[in-house]
Amino acid sequence: MPELPEVETIVADLRPHLTGRTIVSCELPFPTIVRHPEPEVFIDSVAGMRIAGMRRRGKFILIELDGDQLLVVHLGMTGQLRIVDAAAPIEKHTHAIFILDDGRHLRYRDPRRFGRLLLGTEPSLLASKKLPRLGPEPIDPDFAADELYRRLRKRKTSLKAVLLDQGAIAGVGNIYADESLHRAKLRPDRLAGGLSRKSVQRLHESLRDSLQTAISNRGSSVDTYRDAWGEMGGQQEKLLVYGRAGEPCFTCGRPLTMIRLAGRSTVFCRRCQK
Ligand SMILES: [Zn+2]
Repeated sequence: MPELPEVETIVADLRPHLTGRTIVSCELPFPTIVRHPEPEVFIDSVAGMRIAGMRRRGKFILIELDGDQLLVVHLGMTGQLRIVDAAAPIEKHTHAIFILDDGRHLRYRDPRRFGRLLLGTEPSLLASKKLPRLGPEPIDPDFAADELYRRLRKRKTSLKAVLLDQGAIAGVGNIYADESLHRAKLRPDRLAGGLSRKSVQRLHESLRDSLQTAISNRGSSVDTYRDAWGEMGGQQEKLLVYGRAGEPCFTCGRPLTMIRLAGRSTVFCRRCQK
């Protein structure tokens, strides 16, 4: 599933190409990929809209349109948002096509269809719970270790579960939860509320390092993730624990352990992580 670094890569790549463009029209080969409003209303509403900008919030892509409207894209498990020439053959599983005024298409494709598109103002999408309330952005310069400590302290669940909770911290999924816990030398099944300030400081730094490094390497193509041009990221070659269960830990050489935690497979080193 695309996480913060993958979504950030897509947004940064698309922003200069989409900002200032107008959506001439929209086609929905698979209308139920639009969750709000009704697909017919969605098609009518986006036609003629100018794209004012683009940003990321957690794992959500927010395309800012005229009149404070947001075109929201969540990639789910296998979603891909790409900009292509109008003449490019339409790939299987293409569920939405936005025809732009420069002759190109913005296309949304999603084989497993866990992704979704939304349209509305941010306050209305939040009020109707179409857009969830998200925790702080972990790579925001203002996100301090104290804030992470405060958010972990009141939780009687595992560290891994809190990192995956989008309402606690935005944008972290299975890959970067495991990676940052390994870097921080903390076991994923440790009780979140029991961490010392010093340990939280280490986790805060590790979390930001893991995410920033992955952004520098244009994300992890561990599964079907591709960037806005259909290319793979580079971080999957550099992951420390994710996807490496049974392989030797890069630090101590002991085989990495896999357990189920918060409903997800979780990989860590029993020797290095305490
Ligand atoms: Zn180790």
